[in-house]
Amino acid sequence: MSSLPSDFFFPAPRAQRFCSQCGAPLHREIPPGDNRLRDLCRQCGAVHYQNPRMVVGTLPVWEGRILLCRRAIEPRYDTWTLPAGFMELDETTSQGALRETQEEAGARIELGPLYTVIDVPQVEQVHLYFLARALGPELDPGPESLAADWFAPEDIPWDELSFRTVQTTLEHYLKDLPRQAFGPHHYSLGAC
Ligand SMILES: [Zn+2]
Repeated sequence: MSSLPSDFFFPAPRAQRFCSQCGAPLHREIPPGDNRLRDLCRQCGAVHYQNPRMVVGTLPVWEGRILLCRRAIEPRYDTWTLPAGFMELDETTSQGALRETQEEAGARIELGPLYTVIDVPQVEQVHLYFLARALGPELDPGPESLAADWFAPEDIPWDELSFRTVQTTLEHYLKDLPRQAFGPHHYSLGAC
């Protein structure tokens, strides 16, 4: 582990300035045979492709109540979210959703079917939420959460939700609830 202070770290911008292979400055141009601008190294020829990032999460339910976590991190510090986060390279979407739920809420859940698939091209992300059944009400929020709690549908803090993907996933769930027919729902948002 590094001994650097925690506030040293920040997510590096997606755009790279130097080649990851040889260190030469990158140039933004359309490679031969391609049709999009890429960060290209003229020295070694490496093309630095960028693709959307996956955010994976869950909508866990315990006795009709929905699990929300109060964010202890930016962006949207101190707002309520469904447990979710960036998928890691070595895991599947369902493993990532389970991991995030464990890390952010300490909830024991059984993963259900995929529920929402939300394209958010403006922020270069795709968000996936799985339905989940809690195996008990116990919660143990981790360092990324100020709190975690179960909310009855009528108590959801709509004005304090973190992201539009969370809001719309919850809206779909409450609409599906009376019919007991749950998605999946696929749609796009301008920004999350
Ligand atoms: Zn290079």
